[in-house]
Amino acid sequence: MTNIPIADPVRTQAIVNRYLKTAKKSLGQNFLIDLNAIEQILAAAEIQPGDQVIEIGPGIGSMTEQLLLAGAKVLAYEVDDRLPEILQNELPQDHLSDFKLVMQDVLQADFKHDLAGFFALDQPVKIVANLPYYITTPIIFNLLNSELNFTSLTLMMQQEVADRIAAEPGGKDYGPLTLAVQNQMQVELALAVSHRSFWPQPKVDSAVLVLKPLPHPQYPGQTADFNRLVKMCFAQRRKTLNNNLKAIIPAADQRAEILAEVKLPANIRPEKLSLDQFISLVSAIVKYKA
Ligand code: SAM
Repeated sequence: MTNIPIADPVRTQAIVNRYLKTAKKSLGQNFLIDLNAIEQILAAAEIQPGDQVIEIGPGIGSMTEQLLLAGAKVLAYEVDDRLPEILQNELPQDHLSDFKLVMQDVLQADFKHDLAGFFALDQPVKIVANLPYYITTPIIFNLLNSELNFTSLTLMMQQEVADRIAAEPGGKDYGPLTLAVQNQMQVELALAVSHRSFWPQPKVDSAVLVLKPLPHPQYPGQTADFNRLVKMCFAQRRKTLNNNLKAIIPAADQRAEILAEVKLPANIRPEKLSLDQFISLVSAIVKYKA
């Protein structure tokens, strides 16, 4: 066993040449070749010895290796059947008992079943991933709606999606994704990662967000109603809120009543509303519709 980290570009290349030849673009495979970035991701996730970590898409193990060396226990989901052999051979051999690989689409995972017998079920988990970008948002919502007891999601994603999730009211990035995530999670931008930190290099830069679940969603009603109605408010984002509300409340006088109740001018654009204002607006719409 070598002491050179898997994330070292020369070792990554050697592993690729020996086992893979090519990365699978269709599976979003961009392997981290930047140990410094991995160390910063682990620091952002506040990884401590004994932590129970779920990793989505370990790839050739660049981040998994560092998680194991930091003393974490890692349960990983992967779908590329070329990878188990690599992980088995290349991960630090004296940590393999702390590693469990589940060869399954994470979107289909039965977490409770997979955790049993490996993690202490009364302890929370942390989720750490350099995500396959083609399913970034489904993975986030799948985790949010799962029964997993997790304290944080530390997720690398395309910069553009991170910008949308972390956006503040007023800008072009602010929209349904921002509000859906911020309704349920505290969002923190941990670091930006250049496209040069990966092999093969993606076209776009990336960013790591740390998402921590709030004790309960800020919108007190059904989360699905909130997300659906917010989406409808942004259906034509260049139009006013009043215009967008036509699809939900066709009668002009009733729309005016609702806007007055929540103290919003009819000509305001949806991206100007804060999360709190959307919560009041959606609550008023739902009350009106009941
Ligand atoms: N963690 C590694 C790293 O940082 O170098 C690899 C990250 S790569 C961006 C994404 C990984 O997710 C790939 O290994 C890919 O095969 C895997 N993957 C793609 N779709 C998946 C899915 N539906 N469920 C689980 N893993 C998936």
